[in-house]
Amino acid sequence: MTPGILESYAAVAGEDVVDHLRQLAAPLAGTRVVHVSSTREGGGVAEILRKLIPLTRALGLEASWEVIAGTPDFYRFTKSLHNGLQGKGVPLPQNLLREYENVNAENAETLRGALNDADFVFVHDPQPAALLSHFPDRKGRWIWRCHIDVQRPHRPTWRYLRQWVALYDASIFSLPEFVQPLPHPQFLVPPSIDPLSEKNIELSPEEVADVRTRFGLNPELPLVVQVSRFDRFKDPLGVIAAYRLVKRHTRLQLVLAGGGATDDPEGDAVLTEVRDAAQDDPDIHVLLLPPDAHRTVNALQRAADIVLQKSLREGFGLTVAEAMWKGKPVIGGDTGGIRLQVIQHYTGFLVRTPEGAALRMRYLLHRRDVLESMGERARRFVWENFLITRHLREYLAIMLGLRAGQTEWIEVGW
Ligand code: UDP
Repeated sequence: MTPGILESYAAVAGEDVVDHLRQLAAPLAGTRVVHVSSTREGGGVAEILRKLIPLTRALGLEASWEVIAGTPDFYRFTKSLHNGLQGKGVPLPQNLLREYENVNAENAETLRGALNDADFVFVHDPQPAALLSHFPDRKGRWIWRCHIDVQRPHRPTWRYLRQWVALYDASIFSLPEFVQPLPHPQFLVPPSIDPLSEKNIELSPEEVADVRTRFGLNPELPLVVQVSRFDRFKDPLGVIAAYRLVKRHTRLQLVLAGGGATDDPEGDAVLTEVRDAAQDDPDIHVLLLPPDAHRTVNALQRAADIVLQKSLREGFGLTVAEAMWKGKPVIGGDTGGIRLQVIQHYTGFLVRTPEGAALRMRYLLHRRDVLESMGERARRFVWENFLITRHLREYLAIMLGLRAGQTEWIEVGW
């Protein structure tokens, strides 16, 4: 680990914040913590774990990150699980269900060495949730970490997943609305962004200008950006509809930037729908980015006048915090974790329809003073609430609580 990582975070998040982390971590020195997820690239979970692991290690714990390997049928099934948990239910076919269980069984064998001896295992999202059933002799405590919007899950889907989740020692959700009846303690921990990652560090004006040139963006025209996997819950078609409504009055440019996550099999179909909807409008730029294009995403968010995240369901929406950290007001879907971040009229606007999004876009494009003051408040709000240091503090507190035999239903304040 690079010496000085904690000092770098102290410089951004505050000395007191990092001191608090050191205090919480001291009794956990040497503790073996393993995070398990289903992809190393693409999507919010990978984004968080990439930096949470080194930071945890810098605090003296032995942290590692394991990724399960799946098959196309497995990912097809877990995408259905994901859609069902977010309320869009489809039947779960028996053969795919068996594939889910088999893939989890196989991964349990591959990961047995790493997981059996761990003191804490954080299993992220539904894909690897069934792993635990293969560890009857586990020594450590296992926590299921749910990143998705499970406010109104399709009941049969949740019932199926619940049989695996109920075996855990605890679970973590991002919002109180997502909490489900489960026979173990549940914690509330909203996700976070890393201010020192390539995605979020300061960039020079030249680098931001370069990205405009690279993608043929006109620096004279207002720019609205949405960065998201090509997923229907992110409502890219609603974004195009909103853009078209604004364009009747004001010429502007829209960037829809996305890339595939390796565990998301629906991306290609949605990308085709988006390209069809954009047709030959030269002011709509649909960008398919490689998964490691963090600096490009950073520059696009900085180049934007307004950032949109018009999701219809959203566990948290890291893209919202990322944009706010760059001083951008966000017009976001009035759903899930976006509501934690976009405070109406304060850090942005919550909307339910393309018409609502268009109205707020027009307002902000005409009121630069409001746009800028909202952006400043947005940055401050992220600094106070959504940096990785706060996230890690809560994970440390949960580990301490569970190790001390905490069995009550606990809410970790933030
Ligand atoms: N992201 C990216 N490139 C893309 C699309 C998304 O780097 O083409 C990143 C985005 O910046 C954010 C994460 O992937 O950090 C997406 O997290 P979010 O919580 O917004 O959505 P999820 O994909 O987890 O539903």
